[in-house]
Amino acid sequence: MAYRASTTIAVSEPARAVKTLAEHAREHNATVNETGAGAMEIDLGANKIQVSSSDRTFLATVVGESQPMVYLLKEAVAEHLAEIYPGVMEEMLWSDAASASSEARYPAGFYQMRLVGRCEPMAGLIRLRLAGDTDVTPLSGPGFHVKLMLPLNPAAEPVWPQVHPNGLTQWPEGADALHVRYYTIKSVTPSTSEVEIDVVRHRGGRIAEWAASAETGAVIGLLGPAGGELPENAASVLLCADKTAVPALARMVACLPEGTKGHLVGEAASVSDLKQYLPDTALEMRAVPAREFNEVLPDLAKSLSAVAPPQFAWFAGEHATAQKMRRLFKADLKLPKGRQFAISYWRKGQVKNAI
Ligand SMILES: Cc1cc2nc3c(=O)[nH]c(=O)nc-3n(C[C@H](O)[C@H](O)[C@H](O)COP(=O)(O)OP(=O)(O)OC[C@H]3O[C@@H](n4cnc5c(N)ncnc54)[C@H](O)[C@@H]3O)c2cc1C
Repeated sequence: MAYRASTTIAVSEPARAVKTLAEHAREHNATVNETGAGAMEIDLGANKIQVSSSDRTFLATVVGESQPMVYLLKEAVAEHLAEIYPGVMEEMLWSDAASASSEARYPAGFYQMRLVGRCEPMAGLIRLRLAGDTDVTPLSGPGFHVKLMLPLNPAAEPVWPQVHPNGLTQWPEGADALHVRYYTIKSVTPSTSEVEIDVVRHRGGRIAEWAASAETGAVIGLLGPAGGELPENAASVLLCADKTAVPALARMVACLPEGTKGHLVGEAASVSDLKQYLPDTALEMRAVPAREFNEVLPDLAKSLSAVAPPQFAWFAGEHATAQKMRRLFKADLKLPKGRQFAISYWRKGQVKNAI
């Protein structure tokens, strides 16, 4: 089922807005198709952003595979437009605004979760068991990434995002501002309203520290799910993940058609650790320990690709390594868009709110 929402805004030079949005999309490796005079469709697989211009009007329609995805797409359009036209948010009105703001206080896909348990599924990963008070079945998908959020000020009571009357997500600001980061859902158990999320243990992270030390019953906000790459029609694959992306790797491996061949490289102390963590797979596994993962991976991936050229290649992990892997996938392996993804999940020494 597809969900959609549209907005029409009077702006100067609407054709420039269409062009700029298309350029942004291309920079993010998305496919952009011209669909008519002054009209483009940004093709994000199961999700689309259609933009067009006429005279002094800019029109955007977002089509998402889920309601949480529609919220993300609306926010993406609004943010990029606001870069060109500061103040445009105030004039923006989405077609689903009335129903969205009257039906629900929180945006679709928002859950307040309670910590009900934790364990260590692999060295360096903290598995959080989080329970909600509402039905968590929609967290089974489509999509397997979520935003986890906590008050920026650890002493503050949480104020969660709400639906703005214009149909966009209204994020708390000032003293109520939230620290928001992307994570991957490892499992969903609707019968107990629980989800599991595996968090990398690291210093100086608000979410990582909460994962390590929060008391049972502590609350955290969760929004999603949306996004996640899956290989389509690829008989051979190369999948590489640092520890932050090992949960996403597990979700991908679980969806591989039987008979898919190739290699998988994960940040782990040993292959047996990886085997224990991941679903059964025919892919050949390599484990690279944390201390040398980013240094060793690009050359290792290159040599594995020479043995078994992949039709689909995927990496997620630290930013600088993602850049090296993107070069390998595009320049050396010559894989086209949609057949290669090198995604920055985090960046050494930098923080970025996922709002
Ligand atoms: C789509 C997507 C899915 C993701 N899924 C997961 C997941 O399932 N599990 C998971 O653990 N992470 C996942 N991540 C990565 C996670 O969002 C980041 O690691 C995030 O920065 C952690 O937030 P924080 O509040 O702990 O630290 P931040 O406040 O963001 O960062 C504080 C400091 O820690 C550093 N830092 C951040 N992450 C790491 C790390 N892993 N190791 C060492 N230093 C780090 C930063 O550079 C910064 O200097 C995902 C990211 C994306 C984009």
